[in-house]
Amino acid sequence: MPNAVEPPSESPTGLEAAYALLADAAGAPWVPLAGGTDLMVQMTGEIGEPPHRVLDIWALDELRGIDVEGHTVRIGALTTYTELRRSSVITDHIPALGEAAATIGAAQIQNRGTIGGNVVNASPAGDTLPVLMAVDARFVLGSSSGERTVGADQFWIGYRKTARRPDELLVRVEIPIVPERRVRFRKIGTRRAQAISKVVVALAWSATKDDAAWTNVRVALGSVAATTVRAPGAERALEGAMPDVGTADAAAAALTNELAPIDDVRSTAAYRRMVAGRVLHRLIRDEGGW
Ligand SMILES: Cc1cc2nc3c(=O)[nH]c(=O)nc-3n(C[C@H](O)[C@H](O)[C@H](O)COP(=O)(O)OP(=O)(O)OC[C@H]3O[C@@H](n4cnc5c(N)ncnc54)[C@H](O)[C@@H]3O)c2cc1C
Repeated sequence: MPNAVEPPSESPTGLEAAYALLADAAGAPWVPLAGGTDLMVQMTGEIGEPPHRVLDIWALDELRGIDVEGHTVRIGALTTYTELRRSSVITDHIPALGEAAATIGAAQIQNRGTIGGNVVNASPAGDTLPVLMAVDARFVLGSSSGERTVGADQFWIGYRKTARRPDELLVRVEIPIVPERRVRFRKIGTRRAQAISKVVVALAWSATKDDAAWTNVRVALGSVAATTVRAPGAERALEGAMPDVGTADAAAAALTNELAPIDDVRSTAAYRRMVAGRVLHRLIRDEGGW
């Protein structure tokens, strides 16, 4: 039954006031509202549990901005996709994140949707998530009792479930700067815009020069499991190897074997496994130049 009553809401203008509301254990939990592009869809109760109290965090400037501190890129949770695409810091250090942002929805969604919303919404089809996993992103969570940091490999703990506690906000995303790291992103959807992904592949590795063996390889995928996942078999096939045809064949075969996606309205499991392997093969081939 759709929820016809608008839930109570608060719009704090400072982080401490927001934390105080979130810490209030009496009554239903406050559900943060950032850009609202996911949460508004749940508001009627027709899709998922509707929020019973809404905490509008859009005015929290502490959650905005992209900068570099030491060897870390810091991205405020309220950073929109448009801001990611326009950021010289992102272009210089993690261009694949800007490419992922460019595939999300269309201009309206990119102007309003935030990286924090994508991360906390925890959809397996969240398009920035594989890139964030491939670059070993860390998520800084804040509450009235302080801040703590959770790595991307520990954050998405189940289908649409995260390690965030109800009294916490995601404050920022931190990405270590690794000088010789390269990252590639590819999304497969039905169209070039307004398409929920069928398969997303992010590939990261370090190489001192173009004809050097790859190290620190990460293969992360979206839309092929209940959460964003790494592909350890494909990573093993690539680690310490040159990006030649034999390596690409082995990595693609390992990936196809280790994935266990589901059939759903967007795609079949067989299609997802086959396409994930082909995409990885193509990404390696593009780097190997053969
Ligand atoms: C038409 C349309 C097209 C879309 N296309 C895509 C697409 O191509 N790819 C894709 O990945 N997604 C897509 N989305 C989904 C959505 O736009 C993104 O997931 C977006 O990043 C959500 O961000 P938001 O700020 O709008 O989050 P909100 O809707 O405000 O929040 C989403 C969830 O995160 C929580 N939350 C948000 N910020 C914080 C925070 N700082 N701390 C704690 N909790 C927080 C909220 O409580 C809520 O549970 C689309 C949505 C629509 C409506």
